[in-house]
Amino acid sequence: MDQKKTGKFIQTLRKEKNLTQKELADKLLITDKTVSKWETGKGLPEVSLMLPLCEILGISVNELLTGEKLDQAQYVNKAEENILGLVKEGKKRFILFNMSAIVIVIYTLALMLVAAFVPMQDWMRILIIALALVLLIPSIILLCYFDRESGTFECKHCGHRFTPTFKAYIMGAHTITKRKLRCPNCHKKSWCIKRMYK
Ligand SMILES: [Zn+2]
Repeated sequence: MDQKKTGKFIQTLRKEKNLTQKELADKLLITDKTVSKWETGKGLPEVSLMLPLCEILGISVNELLTGEKLDQAQYVNKAEENILGLVKEGKKRFILFNMSAIVIVIYTLALMLVAAFVPMQDWMRILIIALALVLLIPSIILLCYFDRESGTFECKHCGHRFTPTFKAYIMGAHTITKRKLRCPNCHKKSWCIKRMYK
């Protein structure tokens, strides 16, 4: 899969249909910023948006992911490639994120345990705890930033997908897959579901 190629393809087809980015976005209940992201190759349409998008552009999902119109012979090969690519992309992000989180937790715990149980002078203990905290805080911020950037959140009320501001993201109560956020479209607060695709 080539995001840039898919982006260019979306742009070409949109223009052929005489649609502006905003008009296309409105049809899909998303922002024109999202359409712009797709077209510049900075993100792929979220899986559940692919069908309605393809319907508007008059192509198949397979062609969307390949970034060009396909003839019958190419079709099956490309379909398999594209499905595998999608699954891999989502998994890769999820694993990377969780691995980083686990590494940070383990190393902080290790430092804390050392500080608590290994015999040493008090100033040394304080130094180790301080070191753990100094490294922990930027790591968590970095992790949150990565998590916020790596997908979108879906409003329970209107289905609008959005990337929350960093502040809203940090302050929102959350579980692994959901986060309490205010929707910029309908302005209601709900447990928004995390989606791995933009
Ligand atoms: Zn909403």
